[in-house]
Amino acid sequence: MSTHRSPDVAVIGAGVVGLGVAWRAAARGMRVVVLERAPEGQSPGAASPVAAGMLAPVSEADVGERPLLELGLRAAAAWPAFSAELGDKVGYRACGTLLLARGADEAAALEREQALRESLGLHAERLLPSAARRLEPALAPHLRAALHVADDHAADPRRLHAALRAAAIEAGVEIRTGADVERITLDGTRASGVVLADGTTVVAGQVVVAAGSWSGAALGLPEPARVPVRPVKGQLLRLRDPDGPGLLDRVLRFEGGYVVPRGDGRYIVGATMEERGFDPTVTAGGVYELLRDTIDLVPGIDELVIEETVVGFRPGVPDNVPILGRSPHVEGLVWATGHHRNGILLASITGDLVADILAGAREEAVA
Ligand SMILES: Cc1cc2nc3c(=O)[nH]c(=O)nc-3n(C[C@H](O)[C@H](O)[C@H](O)COP(=O)(O)OP(=O)(O)OC[C@H]3O[C@@H](n4cnc5c(N)ncnc54)[C@H](O)[C@@H]3O)c2cc1C
Repeated sequence: MSTHRSPDVAVIGAGVVGLGVAWRAAARGMRVVVLERAPEGQSPGAASPVAAGMLAPVSEADVGERPLLELGLRAAAAWPAFSAELGDKVGYRACGTLLLARGADEAAALEREQALRESLGLHAERLLPSAARRLEPALAPHLRAALHVADDHAADPRRLHAALRAAAIEAGVEIRTGADVERITLDGTRASGVVLADGTTVVAGQVVVAAGSWSGAALGLPEPARVPVRPVKGQLLRLRDPDGPGLLDRVLRFEGGYVVPRGDGRYIVGATMEERGFDPTVTAGGVYELLRDTIDLVPGIDELVIEETVVGFRPGVPDNVPILGRSPHVEGLVWATGHHRNGILLASITGDLVADILAGAREEAVA
């Protein structure tokens, strides 16, 4: 990209959302710069490199609102083609998911969950514990009930993040690291670019805020123009089986957590949901709770090696529906944020939805 002309679009944030938007906007012929405050390869607390990678609209149907479910189902359907477009380098696994119950209370809750999904026209098959254990022999004998969600899969968010970065660069996007956006510049009521913490001004035709949990910061905007994004802290463990793959194949979800197999002997055990602002600490209680519930259901987890304990901040919004669209207050300002628990799932459609908005081909992403 030539440095002589200012970009059509400045994207704030190089998580999966910002990179996905930048890639798809560049593919439509726009000149795009991505501004990421972290130095290359590190972004403390960013959600994208921390996420578990479940692509699970059906399993999450009890958490979300109807528009989120519809968006999630579209995103899940788009994932195979999205993965193929990124050269199948994103660890996409069509592995399915088991929802598990231990005691009578959890089994009753699972029955209600199945009824809810049926009422929404979603498919979740009830399994006897013996059938669930035939699918996943590592499950503990005291399993009480299970639901098989055959269409909820998984991907590897770190590989996705790297693949999106490479695709964006290949499409001509300029990614500036160490570029901390202090504020969005306004020309009357129109966004005209941004100013970085070191005083550099970047002039741009349109500005996209894809700053994850930090999207709720003032960014120099008047109060009514801001969005209610808050950090929802998640602690998560990355484990490795020294004996290689084979302990588990499917994603397991249960009261208190989940396990996501990467298919290569590594397992993600997550995650806490904490309203603690930007507290970056891994706590003994958090790790204990995650391991207690997981080992209770899969005793073989006991033998695995802890490779990492990590914390990430989910960009939470009051109604759990991402904010994808033009600001009603500031012309030329577009929001791409609030993906909360589903940013990896929604990565398959977010880039195109927001790029369409930037190109003027669409007004809103979520009707
Ligand atoms: C523990 C955990 C587990 C999860 N599991 C799943 C899952 O299984 N499935 C799923 O679909 N989703 C999951 N998620 C959610 C998913 O990770 C997020 O929704 C998604 O990654 C959000 O991406 P983002 O690009 O908006 O934000 P981020 O990845 O947080 O990126 C935002 C970027 O903006 C940069 N930035 C912020 N402010 C500025 C500024 N002023 N100037 C310049 N740069 C700035 C930050 O440094 C950061 O790199 C999980 C999240 C967590 C924390």
